[in-house]
Amino acid sequence: MPVLDFEIGGDQFVTIAGPCSVESEPQLMAIAHHVASRGARILRGGAFKPRSSPYAFQGLGLEGLKLLARARQECGLAVATEVMAEGDVPLVAEYADILQIGSRSMENYTLLEAAARSGRPILLKRGMVATVLDFLRAAQFILDNGNPNVILCERGIRTFETAMRNTFDAAAIALLKQISHLPVIADPSHAAGCRDLVPALARIGVAAGADGMIVEVHPDPDRAWSDGEQSLDFAEFDGMMAELKPWIALREHSLDRELAPEIRAMETVR
Ligand code: PEP
Ligand code: MN
Repeated sequence: MPVLDFEIGGDQFVTIAGPCSVESEPQLMAIAHHVASRGARILRGGAFKPRSSPYAFQGLGLEGLKLLARARQECGLAVATEVMAEGDVPLVAEYADILQIGSRSMENYTLLEAAARSGRPILLKRGMVATVLDFLRAAQFILDNGNPNVILCERGIRTFETAMRNTFDAAAIALLKQISHLPVIADPSHAAGCRDLVPALARIGVAAGADGMIVEVHPDPDRAWSDGEQSLDFAEFDGMMAELKPWIALREHSLDRELAPEIRAMETVR
């Protein structure tokens, strides 16, 4: 699936990174420059935030969208951001390259339809109590409304387990890669809920066959306006990206449909 000048769901593992919420110009620009320098291709920042509490920060709205567009211009990153309301779709689609449909909205079918019709690729997050079949049906809604560009995102589901924010369903990533033609990405941040666990879940996502990941990054996570506990600071993000490199290389090798020349040579010798 083409986005700007690259592909999602192709040979390359794509990293989407950014803050949970766009907070200010200095915050967003610092993050955009940093993650771009470490190989991220897409900046994700929330301008309209679905919050479980009405008293929590709800996002900068249009101001946030404008900052995201400025970051794209400065850093060459594609921009992904959540759209929560049907009426906001045209506005968000004007500023973003990819529209995110959040977990809480996965079953909002009128929103799915409006987002699909924007023609922008849709990053569809799995509902927190959605089965794989529910998830695929929501994706089908978008496809049936004339938009073939859906990215499935596993972000953890609710189970009886409470030690983590959610239960990361790595098996769903492997299964979706087998039964669907759509790209699948992992969201280790929302699955973990705490930053120490994020690198391990990212590695599991790569090993499960994900086409990419979406990860929350903040220059000062303890002061983040949302999801600070699960956001990586710059040093932690760098550490994770370095640690993931061999795993990503392994994944790309295993994706090779063609045998590598040295292996082909061995086959001939035999
Ligand atoms: C987010 O991506 O910041 C978010 C709110 O995610 P989810 O919809 O998966 O909870
Ligand atoms: Mn978040």
